[in-house]
Amino acid sequence: MRYTDIAIIGGGLSGSTAAAMLGRSGMSTVLIDPHESYSADFRVEKISGHTQLERFLRTGIAESVLRRATFVGENWIARFGRLLDKAPSRQFSMLYDSLVNAVRDEIPAGVERICAKAVLVETSTERQKITLSNDKVISARLVVLANGLNVGLRHQLGIARKIVSACHSISIGFDVVPAGRDSFDFPALTYFSNGRATASPTSRCFRSARGCAPICSFIVASTIPGYVSCAARQPRR
Ligand SMILES: Cc1cc2nc3c(=O)[nH]c(=O)nc-3n(C[C@H](O)[C@H](O)[C@H](O)COP(=O)(O)OP(=O)(O)OC[C@H]3O[C@@H](n4cnc5c(N)ncnc54)[C@H](O)[C@@H]3O)c2cc1C
Repeated sequence: MRYTDIAIIGGGLSGSTAAAMLGRSGMSTVLIDPHESYSADFRVEKISGHTQLERFLRTGIAESVLRRATFVGENWIARFGRLLDKAPSRQFSMLYDSLVNAVRDEIPAGVERICAKAVLVETSTERQKITLSNDKVISARLVVLANGLNVGLRHQLGIARKIVSACHSISIGFDVVPAGRDSFDFPALTYFSNGRATASPTSRCFRSARGCAPICSFIVASTIPGYVSCAARQPRR
């Protein structure tokens, strides 16, 4: 039996950030995740605006993590084929797996990382028992359940999810490359159409941090009118 104060189940953005912060504050913590490194995933994150950035900075890991992101300092805004504005922006974009792996790199060595799946969680008022896929058992004072969309453990613990809008969004992905030129004129672009289409009423493209030809990849569209996000990726060579 391995004893710890805090056991985090799941090393996505939530679990890895918790592990980095708890480890840096000296708490006895273990992080359980089946994968050594977060695999490539069809997701993208952007951190932008004063509130989000300040909040992320408070974690203590933001500066080094954001160094690996694509920074966008200006966003062009267009509507119905016309350029309306060139607005200053403070936006960092990153593929989700790169972000999680950058956060994981900030987890101090004092946090033990266990490559296994949690298969059973038994709770009590004092200590919580976690059984792993490798048959090892962990005893923790507190369990942080950060295993994303995986419902098995949540159901075991009787935690229900309230769905406010079923089948709410769709995701599509494609690359956009500038035709007949090396790069787009804009560092980033928000384009508003008539807002009726659910696929891409708004789109954004990000120039890579190194100033290479921008590539717009992994567009995530939602059914909320006016919302689409995407991340920059280095051009394929
Ligand atoms: C296609 C898609 C696009 C999205 N786009 C956006 C977006 O643009 N902006 C935005 O803000 N949000 C977006 N989201 C939502 C956002 O990605 C999630 O809310 C967020 O990443 C959840 O982070 P997490 O750490 O909770 O879970 P995850 O990142 O999913 O991590 C869960 C971790 O738990 C591990 N795990 C699972 N089961 C177990 C187990 N039994 N034992 C141990 N480990 C386990 C997994 O290996 C994984 O590492 C998107 C989600 C999806 C699916």
